[in-house]
Amino acid sequence: MTKEELFSHVIAYFEATMPVAETELQYRNAFELLVSVILSAQCTDKRVNMVTPALFAKFPDALSMSKASIDEVRKYIKSISYPNSKAEYLVKGSKILFEKFNSKIPSTVEELTTIPGVGRKTANVLLSVIYNQPTMAVDTHVFRVAARIGLTTNAKTPLQTETQLVKYFPAEKIPLAHHWLILHGRYVCLARKPLCEKCGLTKWCKYYNQKIKAKNN
Ligand code: SF4
Repeated sequence: MTKEELFSHVIAYFEATMPVAETELQYRNAFELLVSVILSAQCTDKRVNMVTPALFAKFPDALSMSKASIDEVRKYIKSISYPNSKAEYLVKGSKILFEKFNSKIPSTVEELTTIPGVGRKTANVLLSVIYNQPTMAVDTHVFRVAARIGLTTNAKTPLQTETQLVKYFPAEKIPLAHHWLILHGRYVCLARKPLCEKCGLTKWCKYYNQKIKAKNN
């Protein structure tokens, strides 16, 4: 099977089973998405969604958050992982967003990554969700699931995964494909023990055919 054939089977499967796939983070505008994505590093979306309503009620935009003290912001996010550094990112990042970008979320990776707390992965999420750009944010789920299925080959870094995935996914499907792989990794292709018996990709999945099926035979 060629890579093109594999991608086309995977796309057809997810289009049938997950026609709508979106971030589970709750946000009302681009600023709230930026904050939520920064908070979600090494933390579940569910937990982030528990703290953001009060945080956004107090600091609804870049200007108000830029004027807050780090201690003040930390109080709102103390149940999240790494509250100290994330509070610092939010205050310093909001300042840069307000002063340098007039509170508008920038539309390039280069500009976005000048904001504290925003790395390539976060920048790609924002570009994909806000601007519908064909960027593939690679988190731990995307990295693992893509490798298991065989969509990527010997990818050692998130950037290698990103490069291989954007080469084969049609541009208009990339924002959706990002969510397909994340949600599949979160609920089916689990890190420790993938639920292959619940997965419709067994026929094409490299991991299943090389590890699971071979072991059962
Ligand atoms: S068959 Fe198993 S390993 Fe392959 S994608 Fe599905 S759950 Fe993951």
